[in-house]
Amino acid sequence: MKKRFLKLIDFIAIVINEGLSYFVSEKLGYKIIEECKKCGKCCRYMYSLDTFGEKDFRIMQRIYPGYRRFKIVGQDEFGNLIFACRLVGDDGLCRDYEDRLPLCRKYPAKKIYFNGKLHEGCGFKVVPEVEFKEYLKISQ
Ligand code: SF4
Ligand code: SF4
Repeated sequence: MKKRFLKLIDFIAIVINEGLSYFVSEKLGYKIIEECKKCGKCCRYMYSLDTFGEKDFRIMQRIYPGYRRFKIVGQDEFGNLIFACRLVGDDGLCRDYEDRLPLCRKYPAKKIYFNGKLHEGCGFKVVPEVEFKEYLKISQ
């Protein structure tokens, strides 16, 4: 009983921290400049934090049916799955451009950038307006 209660406390703490972490990237303030070169790399190599196996992937697809267009193509050094979209053409262009997913429309979003980095050679550049060190000072 005590064990279950502690697990519940852990779960609540994780949910709260996840929620708070969302706002860190918003407060940091990034400016996204320049433009897409249409190379298609971001459609062929993407990953989702904490998606470690086939089972997690299926759950994610059930929650977000739009993600059925993705297939597993590997794993990074931390075990997070790497995906590729079935709808990117050999020319690097989206074959479902008009109906692409919100995450594609927003790319590169601040939140995505905060958890990772852009692909080598990507035409976009992300310029932080506030360095993380500064953010820590401001937020104390
Ligand atoms: S839907 Fe289009 S833009 Fe989105 S990942 Fe697939 S190919 Fe890329
Ligand atoms: S990696 Fe960058 S330049 Fe290439 S398609 Fe994606 S957003 Fe465009």
